[in-house]
Formats: sequence, C-alpha cells, structure tokens
Amino acid sequence: MQIAVLALQGAFIEHEHMLSALGVDSFEIRQLRDIQRPFDGLIIPGGESTVQGKLLRELGLFEPIRQAISAGLPVFGTCAGLLLLAKEIANDSRVHLATMDIRAVRNAYGHQLGSFDTQAAFAGIGEIPMTFIRAPYIGSVWADTQVLAEVDGKIVAARQGNQLATAFHPELTRDLRVHEYFVHMVEQHAKA
Ligand code: GLN
Repeated sequence: MQIAVLALQGAFIEHEHMLSALGVDSFEIRQLRDIQRPFDGLIIPGGESTVQGKLLRELGLFEPIRQAISAGLPVFGTCAGLLLLAKEIANDSRVHLATMDIRAVRNAYGHQLGSFDTQAAFAGIGEIPMTFIRAPYIGSVWADTQVLAEVDGKIVAARQGNQLATAFHPELTRDLRVHEYFVHMVEQHAKA
C-alpha cells in the first residue's frame, strides 16, 4: 500500500510520520509528475486552503486529483484539507475540489479561540484527543455523508464513501487511531 501526501504547503510531514508509525509507505506529491506513480490513498493536510487551492491549479494537479477522488480514490483531508474537499464553504466565495457533500464554515472559531485542544468521541474509535488550529467546522452535511464527531454541537469529522474529513489535526497528537481508520478505508477500497 502506498499513500500519497499532498506536500504543497502546510503540515504534511506530520502525516508522513503518522503513516510510518503505522508501517504504511507514503510519498509526497509536489508536482504533476509525482502523481504518475500508483497510489492507493491521498492525504490533504492542514495549512491554508486558499494557498493549497491556488498551487493545485497552477501546478496542473487540480483536475487529475479531483477526478481521481470522484472516481473513488480514498482521501483524508484535515482542516484546510477539509475545506478543499467541501462542496460549499459558507464564508468563502471560492470552493476547490468540491467532491464532498459538506458545507464548511471557515475560520469558524474566531480569533480568540483560534486554537485549542479538546477530547471527544469519534464514531467507531472512541474518545480521541483533538487539536484545532484556526479550524473550520462543518455546518451541515447531506446525501450519504455521515457525521463521525461533534464538539459543542458542531460537526468536526465526517465521512462520505471513500472521503474522510476532520476539522482537527490528528497528526499533531500521538494518537494514531484516525490515521489507522483511514488506512482501513484504503485497504477496503484496494480489496474491492
Ligand atoms: N484557516 C485555514 C484555512 O482556512 C485552515 C487552518 C488549518 O488548516 N490549520 O485554510
């Protein structure tokens, strides 16, 4: 199994560390030629969604990645990655890959509460630590999108088919279980 990590900007190295702790091979996507090699899943890291969206378009990665996700490639977006997957962003006129039936609210926690740590239940896993950094939340989901976690009544994790999105950063904790959950999604898809 090979998992590609989008490495244009943001916290991508931390995802690579989580995958290697799970014994999963990964490589970085930095330019168009990097997606020529085969891979079974993709992680889109946190960072700045507008910058990542712009770089994806400029590097010619936008369309091939959007098509691969639409065709069923398992993808895991954290924070800015969630914003890149969202079909709607409440407070941004621009959407990006727009493959997931969620409506995100950008920088949703305001400046005072920009960053915080908490713990909450994640469906199928249990109580996990959650680190939020100028995070979005998910205002609503539709179609077959399932809510996986909520904090203070706000949706912070969701899944739709092979797409997983978290508003928080599991890669900034020591808890490997959300990455393990994604690796299982990739395994299931590879077997199907
Ligand atoms: N606020 C960032 C954005 O809008 C996301 C923050 C993050 O990824 N930690 O893209």
